[in-house]
Amino acid sequence: MSRETCYRCFWPKAHCWCATIEPIRTRTRFVLLLHPKEWKREKAATGRLTHLCLADSELHMALECDVHPAVQAILSDPSSYPVLLYPGAGARNLSRGELTTTDLGGRRLVVFLLDATWGRARKMLKLSPRLQQLPRVVFTASAPSRYVIKRQPQAGCLSTLEAVHETLLALDRCGLDRYERSDQLLAAFDRMQQFHIDCARDPARADHRHHGAAPPPSAAEIAGRFSDRAPAVTSRRRRFIREGG
Ligand SMILES: [Zn+2]
Repeated sequence: MSRETCYRCFWPKAHCWCATIEPIRTRTRFVLLLHPKEWKREKAATGRLTHLCLADSELHMALECDVHPAVQAILSDPSSYPVLLYPGAGARNLSRGELTTTDLGGRRLVVFLLDATWGRARKMLKLSPRLQQLPRVVFTASAPSRYVIKRQPQAGCLSTLEAVHETLLALDRCGLDRYERSDQLLAAFDRMQQFHIDCARDPARADHRHHGAAPPPSAAEIAGRFSDRAPAVTSRRRRFIREGG
């Protein structure tokens, strides 16, 4: 099989996403900040896929996020209302309508997401004082994670793509955005997972390992998705939601 890579979606050309994704337009702008150590490893993981699915999104590699020119541009733009999707004291729950059009005051909502493992996301935030000062938002997840490849370590952990999906659901409900094609993000997510599962079952398709895609799950991980026992896998750990809703 050809090992040529599509340099837009970073998948093998034989499995390129680009023709099948119709980017959704949103009122909200999403800024995905990916930790440098994950930039290569997670090229084809959900941060990049999320970016491809959303016309009004950007994806940047950053550690000290404050000094990134794209971040600085948004933070100094008076027409933007930047928030950080990250739990913390005083975080506003979008699902409960705790952010309103009055808060925005005509400005455009810009949602920053730290696309990294939980530990790395904390590190990024520690190194980014301006991001720390942003108002924080969370949501109450409408459904548990669909991640079967990389099991989330506990209830409440969602992939970046699912977190954006939940954010858009909440923003739609409280009238801050419109999210009519809510199936597209999840369909893309399911397709990505199916590809990894197929690769794991068929060693001849293991070529995708060379393209920056996430490693395929082991048979035990696939089987384990129906059990309560968390597999000992390192994975992207992240929580965007507030415990207990
Ligand atoms: Zn592509």
